[in-house]
Amino acid sequence: MTKTIDTLVPDLQALLANGIEGLDQSLVDEFGKRVSEMASSRLKREPRDGRLRMSNIGRPCVRQLWYDYHDPNGGEKLSGDTYLKFLYGDLIEELVLFLAEVAGHSVVGGQDELVLAGIKGHRDCIIDGVLIDVKSASTYSFNKFKDGLRAEGDTFGYLTQLQSYLHASQSDPLVTDKSRGAFLVIDKTLGHICLDFHEYRNYDWEGFYERRKAIVSDARVTPPRAFSPVPDGKSGNEKLPTACSYCSRKWDCWPNLRGFAYSTGPTYLTTVMREPNVPEFKP
Ligand code: SF4
Repeated sequence: MTKTIDTLVPDLQALLANGIEGLDQSLVDEFGKRVSEMASSRLKREPRDGRLRMSNIGRPCVRQLWYDYHDPNGGEKLSGDTYLKFLYGDLIEELVLFLAEVAGHSVVGGQDELVLAGIKGHRDCIIDGVLIDVKSASTYSFNKFKDGLRAEGDTFGYLTQLQSYLHASQSDPLVTDKSRGAFLVIDKTLGHICLDFHEYRNYDWEGFYERRKAIVSDARVTPPRAFSPVPDGKSGNEKLPTACSYCSRKWDCWPNLRGFAYSTGPTYLTTVMREPNVPEFKP
């Protein structure tokens, strides 16, 4: 019997809870091959080219795109910890697609190239005819998807990314349900899985891309910041909001920024009225 996307999550949970007899070895071999290719490619450290892609053009902050475009190898260097997080995130994403196939769902079109207004991208895959973007997430981020990701909680522009892929797939025969796409999300701490569906928004995505291209390519004008500092408790100090604290350009973007190693994690202060009683760090 052909499976549909509506049973994907319970099917995955049942597979993991009960196991399976007579696993198709060709699926395991293909999974092994994809993991091996992914590991070799992710361990390369080639210079970045700063090109706009469908995966980054919808970021909430155009200024960040502008920095990356004009100075692709500048900004904060990623630490080994961060690279490891990305690597096991990618592994988890491959794993869940493998499990979806083992559970009898159709998984096709993985990493197919799409083009929108001259900008290239690669969608994750199509499961049972529905365009899917796979995300591995912390428990905090997972809960945003579980409740239905909203624009105000979309720190990294994932909604625009999904809509762009869906728009660019409107004439693709592999995508049989063109009215919606979904995030398939895995909580990498607790192992929970959810599907977060979003209706296709028929919008002038080409126009949106063209406007972004024009702003980003103009070297003379640094675009304005998309975010403002927020109060850090009641001290009068102000800190960067979450989106900026993850941004590799924060030290270029905010002159006089100061980093402090709070016990809860690094905090970046833009205004210091009361000196924190914790070690300060530099980029
Ligand atoms: S630090 Fe914040 S405002 Fe500045 S470029 Fe990054 S995301 Fe944009």
